[in-house]
This record gives sequence, C-alpha cells and structure tokens, in this order.
Amino acid sequence: MNCDILIIGAGPAGIFTALELIRRGGNGSLKKQKKIVIMEKGSPIENRACPKIHTKKCMNCKPYCHITTGFSGAGAFSDGKLSLSCEVGGDFPDLIGRAAAQELIGYTDGIYLEFGAVTAVEGLGNDEKIKDIRRRAIKAGLKLVDCPIRHLGTEKAQELYHSIQAWLIDKGVEFLFGTECTNLILENNICKGVQAHEAGKTESFDVLAPVTIVAAGRRGADWLEKICREHDIMHESGTVDIGVRVELRNEIMEEINKALYESKLVGYPKPFKDKVRTFCQNPGGFVSQENYDNYLAVVNGHSYKEMKSRNTNLAILSSHNFSNPFNQPIAYAQKIGELTNMLGNGHILVQRYGDILDGKRTWQDELERSTVQPTLSDAVAGDITSAMPYRAMINIINFIEALDIVVPGFASAETLLYSPELKFYSNRIKLNSNLETNIAGLHCLGDSSGWTRGLMMASAMGVLMGRVLE
Ligand SMILES: Cc1cc2nc3c(=O)[nH]c(=O)nc-3n(C[C@H](O)[C@H](O)[C@H](O)COP(=O)(O)OP(=O)(O)OC[C@H]3O[C@@H](n4cnc5c(N)ncnc54)[C@H](O)[C@@H]3O)c2cc1C
Repeated sequence: MNCDILIIGAGPAGIFTALELIRRGGNGSLKKQKKIVIMEKGSPIENRACPKIHTKKCMNCKPYCHITTGFSGAGAFSDGKLSLSCEVGGDFPDLIGRAAAQELIGYTDGIYLEFGAVTAVEGLGNDEKIKDIRRRAIKAGLKLVDCPIRHLGTEKAQELYHSIQAWLIDKGVEFLFGTECTNLILENNICKGVQAHEAGKTESFDVLAPVTIVAAGRRGADWLEKICREHDIMHESGTVDIGVRVELRNEIMEEINKALYESKLVGYPKPFKDKVRTFCQNPGGFVSQENYDNYLAVVNGHSYKEMKSRNTNLAILSSHNFSNPFNQPIAYAQKIGELTNMLGNGHILVQRYGDILDGKRTWQDELERSTVQPTLSDAVAGDITSAMPYRAMINIINFIEALDIVVPGFASAETLLYSPELKFYSNRIKLNSNLETNIAGLHCLGDSSGWTRGLMMASAMGVLMGRVLE
C-alpha cells in the first residue's frame, strides 16, 4: 500500500494532525487529493467497550485493552479534562516556546468547541476561595498551579471523538483499524514507511509513505523506545513518574472541587526533594484500570459528566531520574508495576493510609467497614509498601502530610491509596521545529514522543504537525 501521509496511532495527537491538515486544505484539491492513512491497532470508537461494566472485574482483554486502544486512544475512556494552560500537560512548550504553545492550545480548544465540547470552564472565578487555598498551599510548602479546565466527562468525550471520527472519514481519511505497526522501513537514514500486521492474519505487509508520523501514546512508548535503539533514532531518557491513585470522600475534597475542579499542587518534600505533584483529579469519579500488552495492570481514574460517585480520586506522582550506570526509566517503572501486580495476584492493590503509617497491610474486612468504599471494585486489599521503592513511598507520605494542610482530612486513616500508578512517557525523542526526528520523513508526536502527557497538549502537538505538513 502507498499513501502520502501515514499516521501510526489514532489518539488525539494522530487525529488532530489529520484534522488540521484537512482544515487548512493541505490534503490537496479534490482532483488531486493527498492520501492520508491512519493505522490503528484498536477498533473504531463505536466498537470500543470495556466489559467490566457488566462483569465488575477486569477481564484482561486480549489482544488489547479497550481503555487505551482504538480511535481517540487513551482519550475515549479518559475524564476528558482539557487543560487550557501551557503550564500543564507536558514539556512541549520547551520545544516550541510558551507563547506558541499557548496559542496552539487556544486554537485547539476552538476545534474541541466546534465538535461539541462544553462551553463552561472550571477553575475561573472563585477568586477569594482560590486565594484561601493558595495561602494554605504556601504554608504547606506547595505551589498551586493555575490551570483553567474544560471538563467533557467520559461519556461526552466519547461522543465528541465519535463526531471527529465521522468527520475524518467523510473527508476521505483512510483508517486501517485492527492493524499494528511492527517496525519502520528505513533506507539511508530516510523513513520509507512501515511494516504492519493485521489482527488475525499471519502475513505482514508494508505501507509506504514519504511522511510517517508515529503517535503511539503511552502504551506504545515502550515499543517506540526499542525502535529508537534499533534504528538509532535520537532520543534521551527523561523522568519517570511513580505514584499512587488516592481516593477519598467528596466531603473532604468539596471546597477544592468546587473552586478549582482540579488542584494542580506541586512540592519538593524532604528529605529527597524530588518533584511530587497531584495529577488527574476526578471529583465524583471512578478509579479505573488499564492494561498494557506486557500484562501490566496500572491504575488510573476518570469521571462522568452525569453519573457521580461519593468519592474523589487523584494521582500523586513522584518524579525520578536516572543517569549512570542505569538509564532505563520505563524498565524501572515496569518492574515496580510487575512486583505490585504479583502481590495483588494480577489485580490493582489498595491500602488505607492509616495502615501504611501503622506498618500493616489492609485486610478486606477492614476495607469493607471503612467510610471510603473503593470505586475500583476488583482492587485487592493488601500492602503497597512491599512493592513501592522506599524513596517514592517517603515522597508520597510526606506530600500527603503537606496536602493535609491544604485539604484538612486528606491524610486521614481511611484515605485509600491504590498502586501501581505509573506514567510511561520518559523516552523523549529528539525533534526539530518541524517535529521531525534525525531520520528524514519520520515524525513523532504526543505521549509516545515524551513531549506531552495530556489530551490537550497531545492534540495541540497534532495541530502543529498538521500545519507543518500543509
Ligand atoms: C483513564 C485515563 C484517563 C485520562 N484522563 C485524562 C484527562 O482527563 N485529561 C488529560 O489531559 N489526559 C488524560 N489522560 C491522558 C490522555 O488520554 C493522553 O495523554 C492522551 O490520550 C495522549 O494522546 P496520544 O495521541 O499521544 O496517545 P494515545 O491517546 O495513547 O493514542 C495512541 C494510539 O496509538 C495506538 N497504537 C499504539 N501503538 C501502536 C502500533 N504499534 N500500531 C498501531 N497503533 C498503535 C494505540 O492503540 C492508541 O489508540 C487519561 C488517560 C487515561 C488512560
């Protein structure tokens, strides 16, 4: 197969590349239209469904997990929180400059609005309340980052991405669903296309294109790192985030949920002074599980616009860097995940904060009589500290104690900590201003490029890619 532009991965980064290219007329005239192909391992959005809604437990779907795979990538079952500040969502602004990144975010937000995003923006107004929260954060040694948010909610996010899918198909974009890119085809440092494999078929086939864009997301980050090593694609290992998903009652989080919806708090707790931060807060939300191809089960969270739980969940992430003699942060995080999964017999582990401080595991019956009932029904009560490295655990405990000053009750004995929460975006690809790698014709985008870590930033990077190709 031949095409003009080949995009690997139909996540926000990939689909916004095609969207912007077509919006700008860069796909050519009707007479001579450029052929854009998007190759996606998973299914179209209407065929994506997590069976857990019926089974109440993770079925470890094969060949892939629907939560992260298929049209709109990890965006489909996400909380659909669009962060509208370039301070949040990754280091892409370091690549193109803050002003350019903010302009792209504003423009991309406009596209989301055109496709039906809610007009309300959270985290604006409430000035006196926010001042109060900031005052307490300063007292606790934490920085409160301002970030207005447009919250779609999981069900609305799916509707919106469905409209984008229909629009792209209508404009002539060809999708190869159920097709996995297995390798790149390189000749003399030029990318000629990719090798691919269609699910259920034995033979592989080639797709040739003068422009190949890899936007494989976090689930593809590990694969892309191997490809980089194999083909000498310039990359560097960055920071890996290791943490926990915290769940508490809405009553405790009420003030901050109402004023900000999502609190972006950053600290450097003693004694290690590593960066620790809150991430992906879901008021009235649900803790969820995502599975990676290498059998790794990791915890995440999301919330619906309408259906609400009694709890709020958020991640606390501790950032770790490595240099010499070891510099494989993805592999390090995977080992922690594997160990935690082993202790949970393949399930996500959950422990009460008070039990962590008391040096004991949590038992199922103790969990059952707690005020905070886990929204991840098949999480297993146990001891996350047996798998969490000392440094990360101390960072998390000290950060929670600081958070208790900002949100009284945060560090209560019944607060739940789920593990492992790991973020695989630590392989950073070296890119020029055209988002091109050192291999001519090969571009990398979104979370798998290591430059983004959120819906808006990944979408905005896609928009820039579309403009570059125009
Ligand atoms: C449960 C959950 C909740 C989240 N909530 C939020 C939120 O509220 N706000 C926010 O900003 N971010 C959130 N995120 C993160 C956000 O979804 C990601 O940052 C974003 O989707 C990244 O976009 P991307 O295009 O880079 O990659 P992805 O969305 O991961 O898409 C990559 C696509 O590439 C495909 N792929 C991978 N490898 C291959 C291959 N070899 N061949 C073919 N296809 C391949 C995958 O199947 C996938 O569909 C959440 C994530 C999850 C899992």
